[in-house]
Amino acid sequence: MVRDDGYGERGKRFAEYLLDGIPALRKAGYNPYEFQRMVSTSGGVTTAKQLLAQGKPSTGLTTLWMKEMLDSSVEFAVCLPWFRDHLFTYEEIEQAEFRLTERGFDLARIHAVPVPAWCAAPTPEPTPEPPAAPTYRQRVEAEEAAQLARPATSTALTTEAVRSAVFRSLVLERAGGRCENPGCGHPDFHVIGRNDMPVVEVDHVHGLGEGCPDHPANMVVLCPNCHAVKTRGRDAEVAELRKLLAGIARQRHEAAMTGA
Ligand SMILES: [Zn+2]
Repeated sequence: MVRDDGYGERGKRFAEYLLDGIPALRKAGYNPYEFQRMVSTSGGVTTAKQLLAQGKPSTGLTTLWMKEMLDSSVEFAVCLPWFRDHLFTYEEIEQAEFRLTERGFDLARIHAVPVPAWCAAPTPEPTPEPPAAPTYRQRVEAEEAAQLARPATSTALTTEAVRSAVFRSLVLERAGGRCENPGCGHPDFHVIGRNDMPVVEVDHVHGLGEGCPDHPANMVVLCPNCHAVKTRGRDAEVAELRKLLAGIARQRHEAAMTGA
């Protein structure tokens, strides 16, 4: 049992480190009983601080030097990276390093000591794969389910409100923000407007007022020109265009649903 001398968990680790080294010293013919008594009664960090504060190194250090075992000294332990800056002052570290280098010890050997498991950085959790972005189909189906869950809104007054923002953006994405009219006179029209959105219309081929659904299979992207023609063009032309766009909307929707 190691005495807690008020330096917390790390202080206890330090004392354990010192005591764990003692059997090897005994084996080498040096029994540091006085040192062991100090660590056991005063604590490891306190003992080290007391030894470093003494005007001259202990006889133990001289013994270890002669046995070429300076890496078993308390000075060496003080210099270990996982103890030094956490438990000792600058002056104490300097004193420990000085006593070692004075005896020809290469301080680089300190860094050859493997980092103990208790202070090794925890292995980072593997970062989970980011979830795959939902597909067109998944988003359509989620929105359809959400609409079913919503209370029914049926009157003409609420037509604006039931337009799905999700479907609108799905159709915009599906079209790449460009006019889907195959006969468009400005197929390269691609102006970015407010909110970084393309300046185009997401049009219901057959209007909601006609009882047609607010659904991507009934929606196309039109440039302002094509939209104007579809809205205000001559009847025959509008009818022709609607027929064409209805096919486009259905085809593009089905292709996107199957991921084609
Ligand atoms: Zn167009």
